[in-house]
Amino acid sequence: MRENHSLNRFVPSLLTLPKGSSLGILGSGQLGQMMGRAAQKLGYRVCIYDSVSQGPATHIADEVMVHSFDDQEALNHFASKVDLITIEFEHIPLRALEILAALKPVHPSPRVIEICQNRRLEKEFLHSHGIPLAPFEVITTAQELERALHHLNAPCLLKTATEGYDGKGQIALHPDDDPFLAWDTLKANRAVLEKKIFFLAEASLIMARSSSGDIVSFPWQENVHLQGILHTSATSPPFLGEKKARALGEKILEALEVIGLMTMEFFVLPDGTLLLNELAPRPHNSGHHTLESSLTSQFEQTIRAIAGLSFGSTELKSEAVMVNLLGDLWRDGDPPWEVLLNHPQVHLHLYGKKEAKPGRKMGHFTILGKDRENLLLTAEQLFKQLQPR
Ligand code: ATP
Ligand code: MG
Repeated sequence: MRENHSLNRFVPSLLTLPKGSSLGILGSGQLGQMMGRAAQKLGYRVCIYDSVSQGPATHIADEVMVHSFDDQEALNHFASKVDLITIEFEHIPLRALEILAALKPVHPSPRVIEICQNRRLEKEFLHSHGIPLAPFEVITTAQELERALHHLNAPCLLKTATEGYDGKGQIALHPDDDPFLAWDTLKANRAVLEKKIFFLAEASLIMARSSSGDIVSFPWQENVHLQGILHTSATSPPFLGEKKARALGEKILEALEVIGLMTMEFFVLPDGTLLLNELAPRPHNSGHHTLESSLTSQFEQTIRAIAGLSFGSTELKSEAVMVNLLGDLWRDGDPPWEVLLNHPQVHLHLYGKKEAKPGRKMGHFTILGKDRENLLLTAEQLFKQLQPR
């Protein structure tokens, strides 16, 4: 077992959500599905609200409401059905969050979500709190982009301020690329131009904070992205920096007074410097392995944090590697699942999405064991065997 990463654990809040209460979740993706299951395990009902139907979370929910996030009447009705509200993705219109927060507790708060759903606000907030970031400039016109490219004078990424995920809404640029063409292609009113970082590795840290201010941290993990989309997450990164990451994380959670989970994505530079890439105010794809590897999963910890329950232990029971299963694997029909099912240390998760599109997260698998290097090798071998021929 690894060292226990929890700080001030087992302090229950005064505002515990009674069993049998209803948790409202905004969004119906796989994160909502896994959060919903964790809430039900703890004795809560789950009501999902989304503007699209048939998301993975709707398959497990006790109740589902499909309405626009602009539909004030439907939002009022949703609030009347539930006792507590959370999100499973951060791109929810702020107005909807404010309407709901006037009626029922919303955790994390609309302010936290507002900051995390907008790269510009997020970067400005982090910068003002002294959190190290890649050099960036806020862009609102092609002329500003031209100046910023000239000023940063290095390979860069132009990222939309809102709505980006899985590397969408990003354009790689060189200083002599045409800024007017790039700005037209991005089709956004507001963006951030960020210097491309030549990192040693990427890592993420997941922390939770309760309403009484207690903070717990999961051990961090190393992440590998392919074409901007997370491919693997592995426990026990071989590089240093976890302590420093946790100190930065605590500072962020306290400054934002987060109630719930917060994920911090980091770039780790060859000299050990950490730069914060972005925040996610919710469970994160890189923490899926905690379902099997940790004494408490990230999903259960989220519910515990927002429902005012004491935190569970974040100790690892096992080393783990998680691999995402994208829609590309379904090109010639269903992948040969027996490859994974026949392996005694592998856990397969399929989210039940109807249509397998390239780049779409359809599921993941987690392999458990003692030796991370062997796990990484085996995980890649198994992944190769799933590829369409
Ligand atoms: P997600 O929400 O899925 O985490 P996203 O679309 O919000 O992703 P980012 O996290 O900004 O996008 O970028 C996705 C990946 O692209 C990063 O994890 C990293 O691999 C790469 N990337 C992003 N910004 C930079 C940068 N400044 N320098 C180098 N690589 C970068
Ligand atoms: Mg990211």
